[in-house]
Amino acid sequence: MRLLLVEDDVSLSAVVERGLREDGYAVDTAATVLDARFHLDVNEYDLAILDLGLPDGNGVDLCREIRRRGPHLPVLMLTARDALSDKVAGLDAGADDYLTKPFDYPELTARIRALLRRPAEAHQPVLEVGDVRLDPASRVVWRGAITVPLTAREFALLEFLLRHPGQVLSRERLLEHVWDANYDGMSNVVDVHIANLRRKLASPDGPDPLTTVRGAGYRIGSPPEAHPSP
Ligand code: CA
Repeated sequence: MRLLLVEDDVSLSAVVERGLREDGYAVDTAATVLDARFHLDVNEYDLAILDLGLPDGNGVDLCREIRRRGPHLPVLMLTARDALSDKVAGLDAGADDYLTKPFDYPELTARIRALLRRPAEAHQPVLEVGDVRLDPASRVVWRGAITVPLTAREFALLEFLLRHPGQVLSRERLLEHVWDANYDGMSNVVDVHIANLRRKLASPDGPDPLTTVRGAGYRIGSPPEAHPSP
């Protein structure tokens, strides 16, 4: 289980990080919102712990951002004050639980265990763009009403694309997430797999769901509108 700890109190962060590592969790730490965004962009987490007050923003906004990013990532909010308004704001933003500082370490791990114990299905809704659907739990893919058999790698590639609908994903990013950061096989492996996905997802009734953006990468779904129409 990989956790992201966002806390600008360096000594508290170090103590919690050490404890969580000893308890067998993989932990990344961030001291700013910017730092947290970087980690969220490059890694997949099972849980995020967010401090409310950060030097360049706050945990409530970061929590909203995490919710907008898509698949459900459990969020535990840390609040320095025992103010009801902070808790309400945190829960409104989509936090799953909160803990008031100062807290005892066992209390923190009890909350973490409870959040991670929630049924995996609840965190894995069927991903859907247009008439392409993928169920991460049963590992089934459909185009319209037709099931589409995919290899494990094609499935992982489609899942990653569907988790970032409308975003152009570079070959490098796809390689890092779907293959291995140190993959050094064929340089066109992404293109080959995209071509296979296209072929398998092809439907006489609908357009090609995958878009090639020349010089940039691949996208599934429409890009988000830059400005809402008036
Ligand atoms: Ca703080």
